Amino acid sequence: MIMDKYVKRSWVEINLNVLKNNCRIYKGIIDKNQKIMAVIKADAYGHGDIKVAKALLDEGITDFAVSNVDEACRLRELGIDGNILILGYTPIELLPQVAEYNIIQTIISEEYAEEVCKSNVDIKCQIALDTGMNRIGLNADDVDYCIEVIRKYSKKLNVIGIFTHLCVADGKGGEVVRFTEKQIEKFDAIASSLSDLKFDYVHCLNSAGGLWHKSRTNMFIRLGIVLYGLKPDYMNVLPKGISPALEWKSVISMVKTIYEDETVGYGRTFTAKQEMKIATIPTGYADGYSRFLSNKGYVLINGQRANIVGRICMDQMMVDVTGINDVSIGTEVTLLGRSGDSQMTADDMAHMINTIGYEIVCNISKRVPRVYI
Ligand SMILES: *Cc1c(COP(=O)(O)O)cnc(C)c1O
Repeated sequence: MIMDKYVKRSWVEINLNVLKNNCRIYKGIIDKNQKIMAVIKADAYGHGDIKVAKALLDEGITDFAVSNVDEACRLRELGIDGNILILGYTPIELLPQVAEYNIIQTIISEEYAEEVCKSNVDIKCQIALDTGMNRIGLNADDVDYCIEVIRKYSKKLNVIGIFTHLCVADGKGGEVVRFTEKQIEKFDAIASSLSDLKFDYVHCLNSAGGLWHKSRTNMFIRLGIVLYGLKPDYMNVLPKGISPALEWKSVISMVKTIYEDETVGYGRTFTAKQEMKIATIPTGYADGYSRFLSNKGYVLINGQRANIVGRICMDQMMVDVTGINDVSIGTEVTLLGRSGDSQMTADDMAHMINTIGYEIVCNISKRVPRVYI
């Protein structure tokens, strides 16, 4: 292991076997005629894009999706083959780079398609359809318009696919489910009308969509969050065996005793009601540990919860270790992951501060080394 190659201050451990296993479990659930396109944008949701891509290539995955041209070119420069789709906007001036690196670009609107034509750069592209999210894509409520535009640009550009994105596929309950079904119906109708164009890529399902919805035209599931072992929504129940691939750890740098009426940290937002044992941990919001967890979150030490006391600082935080034995300088602390019988997932942490697991893992900053086990 690389364990001794870095200093133990704040680090992330990523288990690529867990990630591969998540992928295998997911594959085992979906229809055999559907393939997986691994979504590895934002440095594979903080897990390390190159390592994740290589692990997935080993698993037979050949299609990847990223957010932008920098992410796409980085993968190519570091030796990742396979098909890479940019899901979002690329400034027209950068299209030569898209061509040079053999990347697939999303056409986000009719106007964008026109600009790509005018640029005279020969790139592969896929056209986005907007079925209700109102983010990017041709308005799928106007079926004739979509069909006309897609046919027109299929003659002028190298269009190899179409896709849409679901916005509540993780939701339960009649109306929410109905909305997703409507989105998929709109997409399937357009895709069916264009079947003569024989696109290589027709896809509408994300992680949640692939688990809880069906489309008759879908060829690829764009698998993001579940690959990493996290939930699209806190209320979701994931298939058995899928678990987080990432753990975030730190150590105790100092332990001290404080007495009644003493306060802890900036702004003196925590006051001790009685004598307490306080430990300092060298991880803070500059490492991506959300400051919203001040006086709210907890970490795991020797399998026990230690509540955060006071405000999270830029590089450090303080926790209450009053009832916890064997804490001293160098004791390992689990910020995310398992410790004894306890577990704290990015989903749990997110839930405490009204966000989603996606944001927690994406926000772990670059100064936190990633260790692969
Ligand atoms: C991020 C993204 C995905 C992956 O979504 P998950 O919920 O992580 O599976 C799929 N498609 C598009 C267009 C995305 O932007």
